[in-house]
Amino acid sequence: MVMLQTSHIMNTYQRYSLNLVKGKGAYVWDDKGEKYLDFTSGIAVCNLGHVPEGVKKAVQEQLEQLWHCSNLFLIQSQEKLAMKLCENSCFDEVFFCNSGAEANEAAIKLARKYAFDHNKLPHIVSFKQSFHGRTMATLSATGQEKIQKGFHPLVSGFSYLNYNDYVNLNKLIDMKPCAVILELVQGEGGVIPAKQEWIEKLTSICKKEEILIIVDEVQTGMGRTGKLFAYEYYNFEPDMVTLAKGLGSGFPIGAMLAKKEVAQHFTPGTHGSTFGGNPLAATAGLETVKELVGTNVLHSAQEMSFILKSKLEQLKENFTFIKDVRGLGLMIGIEIDGDPSGIVQLALEEKLLILTAGNNTIRLLPPLTITENEIERFFEVFQHVLNQYKDTDSGIIRR
Ligand SMILES: *Cc1c(COP(=O)(O)O)cnc(C)c1O
Repeated sequence: MVMLQTSHIMNTYQRYSLNLVKGKGAYVWDDKGEKYLDFTSGIAVCNLGHVPEGVKKAVQEQLEQLWHCSNLFLIQSQEKLAMKLCENSCFDEVFFCNSGAEANEAAIKLARKYAFDHNKLPHIVSFKQSFHGRTMATLSATGQEKIQKGFHPLVSGFSYLNYNDYVNLNKLIDMKPCAVILELVQGEGGVIPAKQEWIEKLTSICKKEEILIIVDEVQTGMGRTGKLFAYEYYNFEPDMVTLAKGLGSGFPIGAMLAKKEVAQHFTPGTHGSTFGGNPLAATAGLETVKELVGTNVLHSAQEMSFILKSKLEQLKENFTFIKDVRGLGLMIGIEIDGDPSGIVQLALEEKLLILTAGNNTIRLLPPLTITENEIERFFEVFQHVLNQYKDTDSGIIRR
C-alpha cells in the first residue's frame, strides 16, 4: 500500500500501488504488462467480467447517437431497463441514479415520504455491521461507528438492531419505524448471510406492523449471489430494493425499485437526478440485465459457487487458521484467525487480486463468468499464499 507522494487526489483510499490499464474477463493487466487474476470484479461491479463484448457494443452504438439528455425528456433505454428490471422482479417502478449511496438515499426519502403521507413516524431501523453508503443519510443508516466517526451530527431518525438476532426483533413492535433497511448478505461487514428463519420472523413482524422493508442489494444484486436478486432465496417480497455496483458492468448507474403502492408517493418535484439513468448509463444497464437473464450466466455462477465453496471447505481442513467459509453464490467470505490484509498482500505479490471484509474476513467476488480452469488457477495461487502465511510469525504480517 504505497502512497504516491505527488498525488493530487484526496487521501480517502488505502490504495495499492498497482496501476491497472486493461481488463478482459477475469483478468486485468498493469502498466508493466503483468497479468493478474481478478477475484474482486472491481468490488462486485464487473459481474460479466471485464469489458464484456455485448455491453461494449451496445455502449459503442449509443456513443454514436446521444450521450446525455435531461430527465425532462423521455429516455428510451431507461424505459426499457426499468421494464426489464420489473419483469424480472416483484417491483412496478424504478428511480435511476448514479451510485449505491444515491439509490439508498432515494429509498430513505421514499420511505419518509410514504410515512409523511400516512401520518407515520419517519424513523428507520437498520442493523449493526451494515453498510449503506458514505453520504450523510446513508452513513447515518450504516450501523458502524468507524464509518460515522468525525461526521456528527448525523441525520436523525436512525436506530440499529443486532443482525441475525431473534430476540431483538421484538423491539420493532414498540419502535414503530416506517421502514427497516438491510442487506441479505452483509458485504463490507464481513460477508454475513441473513439466516432464513430470522428473515421469516422479520418479515412477519414488518407485515403485521406495516413496516416497509428496504433491501440493499447494491452488492448482492445483479446475479452476485447466483440469482438476479438475493431476496429470491428468502421467500418474501421487499417493498423496495436498491441496486448499483453490478448494474452497469462498470458504467456508473444506480437504481431504486419499488412496489406501486410505495412508488406512487414520489410525485413530480419530490426527487431527481441530472445524470440518473442517462442514455449511456441506461444502455450499459439494459445490456447487462439482458445478459444476466437471457443467458446461462446465473446458472453457471451457481455451479462455480458450489465448486469454489467445496474446495475452500477442503482448505479449511488443512489450514487451522481458517475459521469459517460462508456466503451466497459468488459472494464468498473466508474468516481468518489473524489479519486478512496480510493474505491479500501476499496474493497481490502472486498476481491474484482478492479483498477483505470486516476485520477478519477474506472476500472473494470473482466474475459470474468465471470458469473451472480459472478457479483451478485461483487455488494453485491461493494455497501457495496460505502456506506462506502459515509460515510467518503467528500468521500476522503487516507491511
Ligand atoms: C458499495 C455499497 C454501497 C455504496 O455504494 P456506492 O456506489 O459506493 O455509493 C451501499 N450498500 C452496499 C450494500 C454496498 O455494498
